[in-house]
Amino acid sequence: MSEPLVTVLGAGLAGCEAAWQIAERGVRVRLVEMKPHKMTPAHHAPGFAELCCSNSLRSDALSNAVGLLKEEMRRCGSLILRAADTTKVPAGSALAVDREAFSHTVTHCIRNHPLIEVEEREATEIPGSGVTVIATGPLTSEPMAAQIASLTGQDGLYFYDAVAPIVDFSTINMEVAFFASRYDKGDADYINCPMTKEQYDAFYQALISAKEAELKEFDKEGQKNPKVFEGCMPVEVMARRGYDTLRYGPLKPVGLVDQRTGKESYAVVQLRKENCEGTMYNLVGFQTHLTFPEQKRVFSMIPGLENATFLRYGVMHRNTYLRSPGFLNTVYGVRQNPDLFFAGQMTGVEGYIESAGSGLVAGINAARRARGMEPLVFPRLTMLGSMANYVGEGGIGDFVPMNANFGIVPPLTQKVRGGKSVRNEAISARALEALDAVLSAIKE
Ligand SMILES: Cc1cc2nc3c(=O)[nH]c(=O)nc-3n(C[C@H](O)[C@H](O)[C@H](O)COP(=O)(O)OP(=O)(O)OC[C@H]3O[C@@H](n4cnc5c(N)ncnc54)[C@H](O)[C@@H]3O)c2cc1C
Repeated sequence: MSEPLVTVLGAGLAGCEAAWQIAERGVRVRLVEMKPHKMTPAHHAPGFAELCCSNSLRSDALSNAVGLLKEEMRRCGSLILRAADTTKVPAGSALAVDREAFSHTVTHCIRNHPLIEVEEREATEIPGSGVTVIATGPLTSEPMAAQIASLTGQDGLYFYDAVAPIVDFSTINMEVAFFASRYDKGDADYINCPMTKEQYDAFYQALISAKEAELKEFDKEGQKNPKVFEGCMPVEVMARRGYDTLRYGPLKPVGLVDQRTGKESYAVVQLRKENCEGTMYNLVGFQTHLTFPEQKRVFSMIPGLENATFLRYGVMHRNTYLRSPGFLNTVYGVRQNPDLFFAGQMTGVEGYIESAGSGLVAGINAARRARGMEPLVFPRLTMLGSMANYVGEGGIGDFVPMNANFGIVPPLTQKVRGGKSVRNEAISARALEALDAVLSAIKE
């Protein structure tokens, strides 16, 4: 029998982490990367694991969800974290890196691993046999995107994100906001944030003059072709059409009576449940192009959201990603094809570290599959496990890409005294204990 070989497509953050995890388990890897012959519109350097925008890998503190994710990955022997830790630059409590040194370190480790062979070419087909991990990223080249679409069906692959901000339920001020459905029809599923005329005036002026994020050339394409945004208009663009446009659209107040006052308001922002547990809510109709700081400033003017924690901000940009829930399982494997895995941003995780984290889980499981072993499902209490669960099982409604956050992790069962940061640290301690138990029991 020939030695098992796993093919990994794409040497970005997820692909490199996956290849490393597979090779470290004694399984040979063929890593296919189209650089430097062909570049995506956002990649410019020849090395692997290119950070194409910010050089920050965000917080390194255990009171922060992405800080927890990093610590879990370190304990699992992550290549991306090892490279980041050795090339870091001073950035307070965040982990930021020298991007060239970081990419150089990852490239060096990959190219010098005795079990990894690199093929520099564009992958245009999904291999018909053997275990494969597809990690070609949010800007996957066209022939590969077409291949993936033929596997998922056109409805199974999104090409653009048009996502409204999501807030942490526990940080919404429910003394101001209230549950109700319009005209009391059905269950009172929506959270309503009522506005007086004065509050609406102030919010409206702030919204129409807020700073928008700069568009990349390839995002402008999406703007020219409104079809790709499926009719989603940014809330600030809608607002600029006229003072009352929002009050006849997403901020329509009619039929929404606050039982505490018995009255309808001048305008109402509605929030809809994002997950079954009801720990996350999205702002209905608030897909937006505003910069993240401006979203925080302007949307915190909404009564009830003054101190809300934004678990993710709204975005509208090019992003190829799968409608993963039901298509992938909770180890990033295709449910209908146990030899095929996906990893990275295209699975619906969002962010550098999250992409690498999904590559770690997919890589470990691709190696196990190649060696005829059972999958390793990471515990729900860990951030790695909760992210994989979010991707495979999904929230409710439309599936939207998600950063690591504490809203996707099961809540603490015991009361913890102290502020949010202390509670988050308790969630992290619980996660690391669950992870250590799995890692010490694992046989590979
Ligand atoms: C413009 C942009 C800016 C972003 N900025 C940030 C940020 O600042 N912070 C953050 O946390 N996240 C950011 N993200 C989101 C995300 O974290 C990154 O895209 C991240 O690099 C995703 O990792 P990945 O491994 O899934 O894909 P990538 O890192 O993009 O890796 C995919 C690799 O596959 C290769 N490839 C593509 N098609 C093929 C093919 N057919 N054959 C062979 N190789 C192929 C590419 O060349 C690339 O090397 C950004 C995304 C985009 C699009």
